[in-house]
Amino acid sequence: MTGRLVGGVDLGATNLRAVVADGGGEVRGRARTETPAGDGDVVGRAVVRTLEDACGAAGVAPDDLAAVGVGSIGPLDRAAGAADDPPNVAAERIPLVAPLEDRCGCEVLLVNDCVAGAVGERYLADGGPDLTYVTLSTGVGAGAIVDGRPLRGHRGNAAEMGHVVVEPGGRECGCGGPGHWEAYAGGQSVPGFAREVARAEGVETGLDLADLDARTVFEADDPLAARVRDRLGAYNALGVAATVHAFDPAVVVFGGAIAVNNPDAVLGPVRERLPDLLAVDAPTVRLASLGEDAVLKGAVAAALTGGTGDPDGGP
Ligand SMILES: [Zn+2]
Repeated sequence: MTGRLVGGVDLGATNLRAVVADGGGEVRGRARTETPAGDGDVVGRAVVRTLEDACGAAGVAPDDLAAVGVGSIGPLDRAAGAADDPPNVAAERIPLVAPLEDRCGCEVLLVNDCVAGAVGERYLADGGPDLTYVTLSTGVGAGAIVDGRPLRGHRGNAAEMGHVVVEPGGRECGCGGPGHWEAYAGGQSVPGFAREVARAEGVETGLDLADLDARTVFEADDPLAARVRDRLGAYNALGVAATVHAFDPAVVVFGGAIAVNNPDAVLGPVRERLPDLLAVDAPTVRLASLGEDAVLKGAVAAALTGGTGDPDGGP
């Protein structure tokens, strides 16, 4: 099957990346660009062009591809094959499936970035058929594979765990709701949360509160940073506990820049607190194996397996 080539696309709010890979998942060509700031058609055309560039790097034509997987920022409109008003992007609606089908003439499998992460960890890192992928990056999200099937949902937005409530009446989330997990543990939220803790609890700090980022909070040897890390550990444990009760995974895999760059600070408190929060046995909690490429490789895995990540399945 190594003669069969597939495409993989990772559409993020900042970067757009594409690869061509063989049947074993080995990358033959890659391309990347910044996600353009134009409307949805501009972004859709950039997606096609970036995959064309990856094909050029691999020395193949787009219509040589047997399938294309796309891991995209959500929310998705699954029936329309589009991203539907994603936050942090100017475009309101980004058509993805139709322009890629037109260009490549093959099946295009669209999943959200967290489902791509889950599919990739299952296929390429032996994650097994009951796996939940949790990303801590700009925001918080999850993708769940249950009984060997990635959950997609009515519009393609199953397992949006970033919007479960971890603090009733708490901080306002980017979506407008109060006390959501993402409103604390998303990289965009961490500095604001740290300022709130400093104000409300009068914790001494040597940090410059006006110029704070998530990286500083996770790395600084400082009383306020330590207090915020402790709070985030508690919220992450609550979020993972809700995730485990919903999907009963054998493995919870953490990806996203915050988890990948601070594995001990993120995974330690979750592993420690989880048993006390669960009515069921605690799953294995581990770091994503695929690192920065998790979504891109997950998109390839989706293309190779008809969207399931099943190492024994696929078309
Ligand atoms: Zn929310």
